[in-house]
Amino acid sequence: MGSGKRAAEQPQHHEDGRFEDQDAQVRLRHGRVVDSSNVAEWDHEAKYIGFTEPSCSVHQPDLNLVADNPRLVARHADARILHQHAGSHVELPAVPRAGDDALAECAFGERSPLVQAKRVERVVRAVDVEERDPAPIDRHLPPPSRRELVHTGDGDEVPRPIAPIADIVDVHIAGRHGVYYNAMPNHRIEARTPRGAPHAPVQITDPDRLRSVGEDAAHVAGSASALVAPSTEAEIAHVLKSSAAVLPIGAQSSLTGGATPRGDVVLSTSRFNRIVEIGADRVRVQAGVTLADLDAALAGAGRYYPPAPTFTGAFVGGTVATNAAGAATFKYGATRGWVEAITIVLPTGDVLDIDRGSVHAHADGYFELILGSGIVRVPVPRYRMPDVPKLSAGYFAAPGMDLIDLFIGAEGTLGVIVDITLRVEARRPAWCLFFVPFADRRAAFAFVRTLREAAEETWRSHDPGGLDVSAIEHMDARCLALARADGVDRRTGVTWPDRTAIALLITLELSSSIASERAFEEMGRALDEAVRADDVQIAMPGDRARMAQLLALREEVPASVNSRIGRAKRDVDGRIEKTAGDMIVPFDRLEELLACYEREFEARSLDVAVWGHISDGNLHPNVLARSFADVESGRAAILAVGRDAIRLGGSPLAEHGVGRNRVKQQLLEMLYGRAGIEEMRAVKRALDPGWKLAPGVLFPPGSMPP
Ligand SMILES: Cc1cc2nc3c(=O)[nH]c(=O)nc-3n(C[C@H](O)[C@H](O)[C@H](O)COP(=O)(O)OP(=O)(O)OC[C@H]3O[C@@H](n4cnc5c(N)ncnc54)[C@H](O)[C@@H]3O)c2cc1C
Repeated sequence: MGSGKRAAEQPQHHEDGRFEDQDAQVRLRHGRVVDSSNVAEWDHEAKYIGFTEPSCSVHQPDLNLVADNPRLVARHADARILHQHAGSHVELPAVPRAGDDALAECAFGERSPLVQAKRVERVVRAVDVEERDPAPIDRHLPPPSRRELVHTGDGDEVPRPIAPIADIVDVHIAGRHGVYYNAMPNHRIEARTPRGAPHAPVQITDPDRLRSVGEDAAHVAGSASALVAPSTEAEIAHVLKSSAAVLPIGAQSSLTGGATPRGDVVLSTSRFNRIVEIGADRVRVQAGVTLADLDAALAGAGRYYPPAPTFTGAFVGGTVATNAAGAATFKYGATRGWVEAITIVLPTGDVLDIDRGSVHAHADGYFELILGSGIVRVPVPRYRMPDVPKLSAGYFAAPGMDLIDLFIGAEGTLGVIVDITLRVEARRPAWCLFFVPFADRRAAFAFVRTLREAAEETWRSHDPGGLDVSAIEHMDARCLALARADGVDRRTGVTWPDRTAIALLITLELSSSIASERAFEEMGRALDEAVRADDVQIAMPGDRARMAQLLALREEVPASVNSRIGRAKRDVDGRIEKTAGDMIVPFDRLEELLACYEREFEARSLDVAVWGHISDGNLHPNVLARSFADVESGRAAILAVGRDAIRLGGSPLAEHGVGRNRVKQQLLEMLYGRAGIEEMRAVKRALDPGWKLAPGVLFPPGSMPP
């Protein structure tokens, strides 16, 4: 935002801490300045801001705060306007006492502080106001007669503020009597009503249509009681309020049964399919946009969204709900790090617009949500999350966490995400692929280690000619045998020696063409030391056909396994299902984890194929079940290696989430303990007291309150 104020209009900052602004009109959203006509330069740093009505000065008794959602009207003789800064602020106690650091600096962007931190000398009056009224305030205040009067403490009476979620405290500071108002503490957010006419969307009950949404990509059959495809927030709110059990879905590519209904009303987000705005470093989309459509639109605008998972038919909303991660997580991280804002319809029908950075947990470990029905306190779980690059394991929790992170990865259990703002990069750099088969597993791991370290050095040094690896994918000998049995090598023309133990598919990003030469030389040197040159197959930048072949091999591996499981289910036992792990450990512990895989799966004589994202330390063991007994013993093996993953500092749940998969739910409990699950349940209870949204996802159905 630019500096929109003329000199004469500049706010006055007085030595004694007073701050005058005759004509500031600031609009606050979630306690944050989002549009301030003539104080534009104050911009986003201002969390709490006080100002006068255009017709008032600070020496007049009226203070008004004009807000999108009305906040506060305070009135006091000789009122002083004080400020608090959002950043490294001093958290104001609800009722300050003498001696408290009641004020932090009020720093707007780069500017020097407007108000110095001061101590409270004497508390005159403290009013904790919790009533709420959606009517706008500013000059259109309802007549005072319609509002309760509040004693100000010095004989004066003023109409009770009509919209305040604020604590109002009169204090003596620096020898002067002032009014402190905490317009919106950092841990609070106010919901709004949903947009759109409050219609009920059409309920589809046609059996064929219901069957079409009966299962997700885990292919365990479910059933929907109805299907709705709302197109407005108000329609979603209506469904949530009027149904006993609602399952939001995206593209149903979940591998956990999280998008498989069990008698729920299925709420499809497919009509929220608009790409709202593409900016220089942000894109705003509705939840039902597919990653493929997003990618195409961004490419047209010279932009790129890197953390997409392998399946590009997934909806953006689904990827946010599962904190999906892709092959390129090694360089770009998982979805969470790219989400800047979301709009979410809560189970109560209230809507939250959450901007990253605007709402943080209270130091005592909770958020407060001001909903239509009152204030709801949401506790922050106290478990410690493992330090791994991708994690889709229940609710995010950390001291002082950002509220937006609670909803990212919550798998649809806390609200329906309708709108998302993502960070984007400038156009995708040129890239090429190397398919590298290794006869020896240790040599493959050593090579991955070399590439990881070289890439990390390149990012640190910004060397344009350095090795810039964004992804290393892994397929073991069993994967390659299955692919060969299915003729994938013949179809794609990708070959590998019979003795291959591990094949890697490496994505190398290239900056300028001159720098690329150096990167190629370095890669060549690294390869020379590791493998026979004849075995390496390369797809050069722009060679789309060869790239598609190499990528197809990697994509065909899960398809080969899934088709065998499908056949066994059909021909052998209908209870056979996908039995797979999603473990992640710090890369240095990955060989140990693989040894655990071998121990546990071999001990049970199970046929297992392992593939995944070796650059992240995330490899998926997949059981090729020949009988239901294999499924059962595969589950036991996955629970055992899950314990190992936790012991090695990782997580048994990395990117696919937990969903309605009983084994994954057990792994979640193994990760955070029963107490951790209870803390998650407290979050769920606070936001969804009727337990109606995605019941059975994350938490086993039997554990839900009646
Ligand atoms: C071939 C294949 C490859 C895959 N590769 C990867 C991979 O590399 N990395 C990875 O992380 N995953 C991968 N997956 C899994 C899957 O694609 C991801 O979990 C994806 O994020 C799910 O998106 P979706 O739109 O299909 O969501 P769905 O499957 O429809 O839903 C997933 C969960 O999110 C919830 N949900 C969906 N939309 C919303 C919303 N708008 N608001 C609130 N909750 C919502 C649902 O209730 C459900 O619990 C793969 C799946 C397949 C089939």
